[in-house]
Amino acid sequence: MPAPAVHAIILDIEGTTTPIAFVTTRLFPYARTHLTSYLNSHRAACADVIDRLRAEHHQEADESPPSWSDAPEEARIRSATEYVDWLMDRDRKSPALKELQGRIWKDGYRSGELIGEVFPDVPVALGRWHRLGIPVGIFSSGSVLAQQLLFRHSAAGDLTRFLRWHFDTAVGAKGEPESYRRIASAVDAAPEQILFVSDIVRELDAARAAGMQTRLSERPGNATPPKHHHPVVRTFDQIP
Ligand SMILES: [Mg+2]
Repeated sequence: MPAPAVHAIILDIEGTTTPIAFVTTRLFPYARTHLTSYLNSHRAACADVIDRLRAEHHQEADESPPSWSDAPEEARIRSATEYVDWLMDRDRKSPALKELQGRIWKDGYRSGELIGEVFPDVPVALGRWHRLGIPVGIFSSGSVLAQQLLFRHSAAGDLTRFLRWHFDTAVGAKGEPESYRRIASAVDAAPEQILFVSDIVRELDAARAAGMQTRLSERPGNATPPKHHHPVVRTFDQIP
């Protein structure tokens, strides 16, 4: 039986539209390097995110983060910096950390220091799907702000006009079928008419459990996937 026609496409970012190395060797180190100077030069604007970091710090239960002091102001900023470093060392999915990273990246993209990296077939495919009237969305664990920045400031120009939806983990975890059901209802298509593309088998299994069509993205720099039963694509040229 042929698969139903595709009415919408949902794409993962890391390992799918974008080399994993861009995130691990460019974005994350950029945020870490610019952290102290950013907090010092945006003191008033960062008061809210420092408050949120402080609240998260005080709720740490499992491990002991570096100590925190609120006064003087320099000590408060140093406390925030040390705690953010500590969170990044552990790859923790802290909402305040993500917010702060997003703001630092925004500065970097605006100044032209950061340029969003996508595989060369990605802008071509986005244009093709646009002409075919197939809307496209992103589902990534990176925040919606981080997603928009990457595609707005890509080497191929502003690609956000090709993206109708941005989903982050506010919709649910990427390994949970329920997240894909929520996406299908937001997209307003039957799950069977939605194609989800990712490099992670666990995510594809969850999307399939929700009824979606799937493709496993094999890109340079990706880890070898465990045994799976998803059709493989090495470029978006293979997705008509
Ligand atoms: Mg990925």
